[in-house]
Amino acid sequence: MANNRNNNSNSNSNSKTKKVVKFRRVKKKVCSICAARIEEVDYKESNYLKRYITDRGKIAPRRMTGLCPKHQRDIAKCIKKARIVGLVPYLVE
Ligand SMILES: [Zn+2]
Repeated sequence: MANNRNNNSNSNSNSKTKKVVKFRRVKKKVCSICAARIEEVDYKESNYLKRYITDRGKIAPRRMTGLCPKHQRDIAKCIKKARIVGLVPYLVE
């Protein structure tokens, strides 16, 4: 019984410390394509597309690119097109 009580008190103190953890400020990400007012992304601009590819050649997720859903879709399409044409690699080793 005494052990249980101790455990409970420990878990309570832990939860209290968790609540005290500093409030994270969330930066508002603005979609870089919307900000640059680019109407359509061109799949032939491989240098531009390479910004949205990870160092292993994968399409970067939205949490990394910070794009809006529409432009993330556009970029993914363009990267896939560019891969077929051979401008962007499928896999980097
Ligand atoms: Zn956008």
